[in-house]
Amino acid sequence: MANIQDLGIAGIRGGIDSGAFTAVEVAETFIDRVSAAKPLNAFLVETPDHALTAAKAADEAKAKGETLGKMAGVPIGMKDLFCTEGVPTTAASGILEGFVPQYESTVSANLFKNGAGMLGKLNLDQFAMGSSNETSAFGNVISPWRRNDGGNTDITPGGSSGGSAAAVAGRIAPAATGTDTGGSIRQPAAFAGITGFKPTYGRCSRWGTIAFASSLDQAGSMAHDTRDCAIMLEAMAGFDVKDSTSLDLPVPDWEAALNSDLKGKRIGIPKEYRVDNMPSEIDALWQQGIAWMKDAGATIVDVSLPHTKYALPAYYIIAPAEASSNLARYDGVRYGKRDLPDGAGLQDMYAATREAGFGDEVKRRIMIGTYVLSAGYYDAYYTQAQKVRTLISQDFDKAWEQCDLLLTPTAPSAAFGLGEKSDDPLAMYLNDVFTVPSSLAGLPAMSVPAGLDGQGLPLGLQVIGKALDEQNVFNAGLALEERAGFVAKPEQWW
Ligand code: GLN
Repeated sequence: MANIQDLGIAGIRGGIDSGAFTAVEVAETFIDRVSAAKPLNAFLVETPDHALTAAKAADEAKAKGETLGKMAGVPIGMKDLFCTEGVPTTAASGILEGFVPQYESTVSANLFKNGAGMLGKLNLDQFAMGSSNETSAFGNVISPWRRNDGGNTDITPGGSSGGSAAAVAGRIAPAATGTDTGGSIRQPAAFAGITGFKPTYGRCSRWGTIAFASSLDQAGSMAHDTRDCAIMLEAMAGFDVKDSTSLDLPVPDWEAALNSDLKGKRIGIPKEYRVDNMPSEIDALWQQGIAWMKDAGATIVDVSLPHTKYALPAYYIIAPAEASSNLARYDGVRYGKRDLPDGAGLQDMYAATREAGFGDEVKRRIMIGTYVLSAGYYDAYYTQAQKVRTLISQDFDKAWEQCDLLLTPTAPSAAFGLGEKSDDPLAMYLNDVFTVPSSLAGLPAMSVPAGLDGQGLPLGLQVIGKALDEQNVFNAGLALEERAGFVAKPEQWW
């Protein structure tokens, strides 16, 4: 049997079921992995007791012959954007240093109700703003992957769910939560050679998830494979009266309906996703993906999403606009940090706290967002961006007349070295070129690890589906996964 550390959710479930090992053994294995992985800086807080308590409960339930939850005995990593009761939660920002939530986010509560334990809180880009995990106030996450050039350049795990991606890729956690506003589950999954799934907007409650851009933010699963992502998403999703945007629909049994036979499915290939300067290896992988889809029985159709080129500019207006409003609440009065200079008044306290607490990227977005929402510029930027957003959604609606799913690369490059793009925000924003359009349209999408580039770094393929059609996205992901046979994993150097 495989080492426990190499197992994912289904593997752990199988082993506990058959008695090959106990949930406590699983928890202990991963707790040791977490404490040995400090050089990667993936965890901001470790919560071994939480993982052990959940594991003991799973073992006891099994001994009594009770039915186990979907995530019973699975110790997961929790992106530090989810509020966890009694456990420090910072969104990787200095402004929330010292904040300990009095309540549990709905997503984490759902996972715990389904038997999951928590290994700790995972590092991320500050307030989920970034694509490389370099905007965290608590240091970069270093990917477990290395280039195969014999050097030891530190590589980004992607972002913003960089800690989640690094932890799963490094076999430090069998699965982790992520959130995706413009690509933050899919791009890090692609960079780290794991699977990441963002559901339809509204499938997961946003209650207790620290808000970045509320009309875009969605939680999702990050794991070793499609099946694990399906199991975990079932455990996370569901209607919640506390989030008016959560969908009042039953959560389908995606795992039970997994089927990689794509006969009768039409896969659209959007021509606008062939961007300038994309490495030829990514284009080659995309062609390979098309061949795999055909092999699985699908037919391929060329489609056009004509407004794709406006997606990034629209996103980088809408997301900062919403962020500037959401982040107004961090003022030194209610949460975390307070900077109260001697003799200062209330306004000075707000200013000093925000100046000291927010990082540069967060400040940049607050300024852009405030600007595009200001009276003189609202129509020129914000209203315009909202119109573009509608056109982008309509592009997808038209494409669905011709096809059932879309296949694209996940990101326009493999993971880059830490520091290689951090002084060029525009180059950084380009990372999201393939993930942002489906976020603006609220559609389900996933990244499947599909190959390695010439430097030995992972590349991902993205499947995008119709709203609420997670099942077909999972199925196409599984078809790719079976054909890609991606088994590469980073060598342990830490
Ligand atoms: N990289 C994108 C950004 O910086 C997306 C982030 C996300 O999805 N949270 O906004």
